[in-house]
Amino acid sequence: MSRKPIIAGNWKMNKTAKEAREFIGAVANAIPSNDLVDTVIGSPAIFLEGMKKGVKDTDLKVAAQNCYFEDFGAFTGENSPATIAALGVDYVIIGHSERRDYFGETDEDINKKAHAIFKNGMTPIICCGESLETYEAGKAEEFVGAQVSAALKGLSAEQVASSVLAYEPIWAIGTGKSATQDDAQKMCKAVRDVVAADFGQDVADKVRVQYGGSVKPDNIADYMACPDVDGALVGGASLEVDSFLALLDFVN
Ligand code: PEP
Repeated sequence: MSRKPIIAGNWKMNKTAKEAREFIGAVANAIPSNDLVDTVIGSPAIFLEGMKKGVKDTDLKVAAQNCYFEDFGAFTGENSPATIAALGVDYVIIGHSERRDYFGETDEDINKKAHAIFKNGMTPIICCGESLETYEAGKAEEFVGAQVSAALKGLSAEQVASSVLAYEPIWAIGTGKSATQDDAQKMCKAVRDVVAADFGQDVADKVRVQYGGSVKPDNIADYMACPDVDGALVGGASLEVDSFLALLDFVN
């Protein structure tokens, strides 16, 4: 089953509006065609409108890094999925470990967000991943499997097939200590197996699973060579023009 690779940068809480504009100006026409790879930048919400203008008529896609699960109402400081969708944003990253750990997001919140994102015509990039303690206890597959099942609960087979799942071991995020190729393959396969168990093999064959955690230009090809790794979610190496473009070299 061939799945189109998807490389998504996650800028986190970085860049000024001017820096974001300059970055988009430098990369938007330099990326490979989206016939070959989906290329996405996850930007702070405050830039999303400018990002969409900057990528107009190019193959670069834009993601929000989070959204709320209600469309409108008295939720001071939150970003509405309906408002984000109205800007033409393509993807929303949800369930990042920083959101889970620092902002108390639960599996239930993430599931509600996934539903809200689909209701508004966008695609979720749903993150999952275990702590070092869970990894060392040999419980990563069980832990991540439960996160994936909870996040996808109640979605249709079609919605799940079009979702992007990002396996990101917490101990590898921003640490420079990336997972081995074997671990990334094993865990991305485990994620796919959970989708197969919950929604059937046909859906599992279609869903795209990314690896994330200290992915750099010099290791991305190793991950992309794994049969169950369909892409990468990249923080640090997505911030500079040269390293972001170099992440896409595996396509050639
Ligand atoms: C991330 O932010 O999801 C991430 C994987 O960060 P980094 O690539 O810097 O480890």
